[in-house]
Amino acid sequence: MLRAELILARGRIRTLGRTGLKPHSHLAIAGGKVLACGGREVMSLRGPKTRIVDLGGSAVFPGFNDAHAHVVYYGLTRFAADLTAARGIDDVLDRLKAHGATLKPGEWLQGMGYRTDELTERRQPHRTELDRATGDRPAFIDERGGHARVANSAALAAAGITTDTPNPPGGRIGRDLNGSPNGLLLESAMRLVADVQPPPPLARRIEGVLKAQELLVSRGITSVGAAVNRGFADDLRAYETLACDGRLRMRVNEFLSWELLEAASEVGLRSGFGGGMVRAGPIKVFVDGGAERVAMRGGGGVWRTTPEELRELVSRATAAGLQVAAHAIGDGAIEAMCDAVEAARGTHLRHRVEHCTICPPDLQQRMAGLGMVAVMQPMAARFGRVASTIFFPVRDRTHLAPHRGLLRAGVPVAFSSDLPVAVDPNPWPGIRVAVEDQVSGISLLAALRAYTSGGAFASFEEQAKGTLDPGMLADLQVYRGDPLDEGEDVDWEQLRPRAVLLGGARVFGTL
Ligand SMILES: [Zn+2]
Repeated sequence: MLRAELILARGRIRTLGRTGLKPHSHLAIAGGKVLACGGREVMSLRGPKTRIVDLGGSAVFPGFNDAHAHVVYYGLTRFAADLTAARGIDDVLDRLKAHGATLKPGEWLQGMGYRTDELTERRQPHRTELDRATGDRPAFIDERGGHARVANSAALAAAGITTDTPNPPGGRIGRDLNGSPNGLLLESAMRLVADVQPPPPLARRIEGVLKAQELLVSRGITSVGAAVNRGFADDLRAYETLACDGRLRMRVNEFLSWELLEAASEVGLRSGFGGGMVRAGPIKVFVDGGAERVAMRGGGGVWRTTPEELRELVSRATAAGLQVAAHAIGDGAIEAMCDAVEAARGTHLRHRVEHCTICPPDLQQRMAGLGMVAVMQPMAARFGRVASTIFFPVRDRTHLAPHRGLLRAGVPVAFSSDLPVAVDPNPWPGIRVAVEDQVSGISLLAALRAYTSGGAFASFEEQAKGTLDPGMLADLQVYRGDPLDEGEDVDWEQLRPRAVLLGGARVFGTL
């Protein structure tokens, strides 16, 4: 008989699988997988070498799966000027100046993480303001959310952007009244400067992944859908290198930017290729823009990919066996993705709608019928409800972040942080928001599943992970006490696991 290597005893273990939220006291692990979960009888799997850990009533859950987090991007922000807490343009400039002093001559200055609605001026900085802090050094700063950037004069010059430069398709160059560029670049116009900026070397990306990993794993996240905005071969190389060196402590489903579709299909890559640690994920494409520029059925917004281009791309990806993850926030963009999946006959590939923020009932039904998955951010839903009158032109509030409607229609929902859009990837506050939402609330079990087996389903791995049923990977997190019993007294923002296991091996904390 197979003996357990490790038994977690006297805990409150919730598999989130067949037995849902019902607590079990004992869990046995062997060969990196769950051998058994149940009561005292599990102790019969004890052998001479079995380690027994007495949990003393502590809760255990499957590891979280953050289905959409910008791992490399977040990691790289750790090497840029941190503008996350900036509260005014002077504050932005001070931070840029201080960071610039640490750089080599000619090195590009980057800053990330501010939001205009958090600045007292409530506007983007002008290029000439950046120039005051940066001088001749090219500087390029990102607004949190990833849809707007500001370049200083040197960066605009490096990209050759002048008064005469036309707006690219799916993007806009901000201009002064006289037509001269003011530094602001929206949506695909960001690429004009990004393409001339020297890309960070592989070593920097690897360091960035390690920083992101430290944060993610400390929040109980054992699997991540690594979202991308552009196609850098070095992203996948960074994960592969870390996996080969045994330094990767989370499982990565690596998105591939739409620019890599051709290359991926030429080498015969299909979604799911890879091993238990690093897999080829979906082809990522942007359909519409960020919050203020979402594509609605009634018109307006930005189409970063037109419906015709999307249809072409989804057809080619489907024919190659590649799943597509489409950034679509507005109902117009979601509808275009449904049309594209239908035309491609791509129902078997679980094509994904990332964000899926404004999704009325008829589109919920279509997504269900087309076998599509909604990958959502519950924290953004809260933000959307508060700010919907400003950002989202929605008439019916039940169309906004419709977690309940989607689940009822039969659409699998996976939750995610969209790190670094959410500054902290801790899933618990989002789970609470999804449960307590007055308009579209879902059960605690459904919310926890969206953050565990939901992500596993989205990457075709629901047979391997996402629950603690026997035979599943022993990716799990152990808490101090039982947060679900303490209810009201728990500070969900601060809730952290005390230990995290990946395939039965400790990757964070102490057991
Ligand atoms: Zn994203």
